[in-house]
Amino acid sequence: MTTLLSGDRPVMTQTHSLKVPKNATPIVSIVQGVGLSKTYYYHFSKDLPAEGKQVFADAVKVYNQTGIVHLVPNSGWHGAGHNRITFSVYHKEMGKRAATVELGHGGPEIEQTSDTWETDSENHAVASLNGDYNAAFSDAVAIHELGHALGLAHSKSCHSVMYPIAHGQTRLSRGDLTSLKLIY
Ligand SMILES: [Zn+2]
Repeated sequence: MTTLLSGDRPVMTQTHSLKVPKNATPIVSIVQGVGLSKTYYYHFSKDLPAEGKQVFADAVKVYNQTGIVHLVPNSGWHGAGHNRITFSVYHKEMGKRAATVELGHGGPEIEQTSDTWETDSENHAVASLNGDYNAAFSDAVAIHELGHALGLAHSKSCHSVMYPIAHGQTRLSRGDLTSLKLIY
C-alpha cells in the first residue's frame, strides 16, 4: 500500500511569477512574489494528540535550523499583522481496499491587509495530520505538511521532503532550501 501525502490544499496552476530554478522544489503559486515575512507564530489545535505535537515540534526545529524562516510558539493570537500556522488533526478513513492512504494535508492562505501607504501579505497556514493512521504521526509527514504551509509544492525529486509519496525523508534537500530562500 502506498502512503500518499496528498489531499493538500494548494492544488492550483503555477503562474511562475518567481523564477524557480529547474532543480528547485516547485512553489505554490499564491505565495509567489508576495514578499512574506520570515517570522511565523504557530499554535496547536486543542484536539491534536501529544504525538502530533511532538512531530510538529520536530518539524519546526528542522525549518528553524535553516535560518530562512523563524517559527515561534504563540499561546494566543496577538492580532493581525503576522504570519501564522495552525497545527491540527483531522480524520479520514480510506477504507480497506484503498490503493493509497492520505496521511496529511497542508497549505498556505494569503490574506492582504492594506492601509493608505502599503499592502501587506500574511500567510494564515494550516498543517494537519490524518489521525486515523498511525503512520501520519511521523517527522517526515509533519515536515512535508509544514513545507506546504510555508509554500512548497510537490517535487518529483525523491531527495525532497516534498516528494508526494511518504518515504521517510526528514532532511531538506538543496532544492527545498533554494525554494524556501526564494519565497522568504
Ligand atoms: Zn503533499
